[in-house]
Amino acid sequence: MGFLRSKTEVCAHAPEGVATPRADACEGCGSTFNLRLCTECGYVGCCESQQGHDRSHALEAGHPVIKSLPVADASFTWCYSCGRYV
Ligand SMILES: [Zn+2]
Ligand SMILES: [Zn+2]
Ligand SMILES: [Zn+2]
Repeated sequence: MGFLRSKTEVCAHAPEGVATPRADACEGCGSTFNLRLCTECGYVGCCESQQGHDRSHALEAGHPVIKSLPVADASFTWCYSCGRYV
């Protein structure tokens, strides 16, 4: 509640570029599927339907913007701070 969700709102958290994944499995539990990438530092973590290590990292490190792996045109980008796809 309280967040503006208009489509024209710009996410102020997205970094200029996307960091290179620094692992090929979740750094928290070793999962190799449905991985997410921290666009800020390259941290690789599992999705929230697993142990949510990407979310843990985002909150602990203050790196709110993640991408789905592998990074491709079809990848989605999610900002935990904005709480929406960006
Ligand atoms: Zn944002
Ligand atoms: Zn994990
Ligand atoms: Zn990070």
